[in-house]
Amino acid sequence: MDRLTTVDTRSGAGYDISIPLRFNGVQPNAYGVSTAASTACEAGDLVGDTRRGGSCNFEQYTFIPHCNGTHTECVGHITHDRISVLDCLQDVFIRALLVSVEPERAADSSESYSVPFESDDLLITKRSLENSAASGSADGQALVIRTLPNDESKKGRSYGEDMIPPYFTSEAIQFIVQNGFSHLLVDVPSIDRLFDEGKLSNHRTFWNVESGSNAVKSDSRITSTVTELIYVPHHVTDGKYWLNLQIAPFAADATPSRPILFPVDVDLRPEGRTI
Ligand SMILES: [Zn+2]
Repeated sequence: MDRLTTVDTRSGAGYDISIPLRFNGVQPNAYGVSTAASTACEAGDLVGDTRRGGSCNFEQYTFIPHCNGTHTECVGHITHDRISVLDCLQDVFIRALLVSVEPERAADSSESYSVPFESDDLLITKRSLENSAASGSADGQALVIRTLPNDESKKGRSYGEDMIPPYFTSEAIQFIVQNGFSHLLVDVPSIDRLFDEGKLSNHRTFWNVESGSNAVKSDSRITSTVTELIYVPHHVTDGKYWLNLQIAPFAADATPSRPILFPVDVDLRPEGRTI
């Protein structure tokens, strides 16, 4: 037990790999949707801003989980049935593997995707995952992928037609499923090409939903989740972790989330407490 480190989450001993959602501030964005905003509530004489004479602050927040920041989503993202991530995510502490991946130029790759590549596209390939030791499947239920380069501009980047982020090849997603990963966490806004004619082929492969279908099958991976728009700081090294995937309790297909990685040899008991 001597080698164990006592974790005090209040001091941040875990590694928070979410992007703080700064309402009205710098934030990531996909598809050029409205930015996440907060507005002080007003009702008659009441105002939810102490600076304007209110007794306390209470604000209305508007945001789009899929586009404005770190979020976790479930198969309900693509089904007519309104399946919620709150129901799907049953794991609290998850064995996880963090890998860094250098996306490949589409022109240099022999792998495939559901719509034609554009020459400038960058791909997260099966080959790059194999090279990064992500095939150590038995050691992880969650795969956390950090794309390189990893500059902090990811925390406020706007993705769209002029900034297509790297996306997974079909072979890469099949590889992740075949290696038994139930949860996939990525620092891009989608595991599919941002403009893919609406096919969401990688999402369907990941959850085992038929191409073009909006219904789950008996063997769909309904307890699996995808978390997008994370940011993994440089000092967090590749390897094995415990993942605490915290979500807001939204009964919705996607919800803001806060994934935290803990070293595998850490003692999670509160300091001073013995069992
Ligand atoms: Zn999403």
